[in-house]
Amino acid sequence: MMFINCEVRVQKICREPFETFTPSELWIIKKENRYYLCLKNSYYPDGKTYKILNLHLIFFIFLEEGRLALQFIKPEEILYIECQNKWLLYMFYCALMRIVNRKDVFIDENQTPNTVHINNAVIDNFDPYTKFIAVDGFDNYVLNLRCLSTLVLQDCKSLVLPEEIGHLPIKNLNISGSKMPTSQHTQDIYWNWTSKLTIGGTLTTLEMDTVSLKRLPFEILHLKKLQTLSINNNNLAYLPHFIGELKNLKNLLAADNMLVNVPRCRPLAMLTRFELTYKFFDHPNYKNFDHLLSYNKRTTEPSDFKSLRHIALFKLMENFPLLKRQDIPRPLWEYFNYVGRCSKCRQWTLPNYCNIICIRFIPPGNSKISLRLDFGKNNGIPWQSMRCINEVECEARLRLVL
Ligand SMILES: [Zn+2]
Repeated sequence: MMFINCEVRVQKICREPFETFTPSELWIIKKENRYYLCLKNSYYPDGKTYKILNLHLIFFIFLEEGRLALQFIKPEEILYIECQNKWLLYMFYCALMRIVNRKDVFIDENQTPNTVHINNAVIDNFDPYTKFIAVDGFDNYVLNLRCLSTLVLQDCKSLVLPEEIGHLPIKNLNISGSKMPTSQHTQDIYWNWTSKLTIGGTLTTLEMDTVSLKRLPFEILHLKKLQTLSINNNNLAYLPHFIGELKNLKNLLAADNMLVNVPRCRPLAMLTRFELTYKFFDHPNYKNFDHLLSYNKRTTEPSDFKSLRHIALFKLMENFPLLKRQDIPRPLWEYFNYVGRCSKCRQWTLPNYCNIICIRFIPPGNSKISLRLDFGKNNGIPWQSMRCINEVECEARLRLVL
């Protein structure tokens, strides 16, 4: 099942157009081994159905601009489609092409060539449409697609991404809507694929909307080329300050989470697109939900080797080597959520050594930050920053840097 929201205009062949582009729903269904294209909009409130068998021509030359046209023989009509989500339209086009070429690759139907182990076979260009893969779960045959650039694993019931996936030059990875495994072990190894050199150098878009994410994994820092991170509709109570280390990040879509503030770090101010929802920013007890402030109150932190642990963490943050989670001592894992840079001297710090400052301001008028809800009557977004308690050392470091 492939579904898109788009603008559609239907025109009879060799006649003047009488319809205008209208917001529409367009989807493909399969009934008794036949595929149908269904259209629903204000012209066709009850829906209009085309047999894909009657599809005569596909005009895809303007696909990159988000436009596609489909010419049918029966009825003799052309559907002009415009879709803002060009990627979705591309997937839609690929799905159509697969049907036209009589290849079934719809969700729930695995297309499984003879699976060959990654080490003893190379199936380059195994399929000209390697951009669109839709299977019910992760299938190891994907590891053979050495040219795979886009992998969509949406709405999988229990998704485990094997570490070897990191050896593929994937640019776009989408696991939105997929359920993560529940066992602690599989969760611990879940992000191991990020530690591979190949994917770290190619992945530009990571979409993980609606995956019940509670914390952003620190392994994301391995993905140095990341430009778009989509983490809408998760259970994130905060964005860790390390997110500021993703220097190439341009789009951060973090709407529908439980954020009470946003880390004030340079890359976030430079984003071209930043989506947030304004749900908890004005919560009267927001300080109780501030993760850095609550860290200071925590008394559970064991005191043995505490400062050594902190030093190890700071050293690790300085050049973040390609380590898997298990290569890092477990007691350190939790600290990644609290580590950040001093906003003045840029030294790595933890709430033990810094003051937590929260300043609210409305981003300037030309900012691309988009808040889903009206924030006109409010005081702006609470931006959280960390500042060394020891001002003398902070100043000294600052002089050293300059
Ligand atoms: Zn400082």
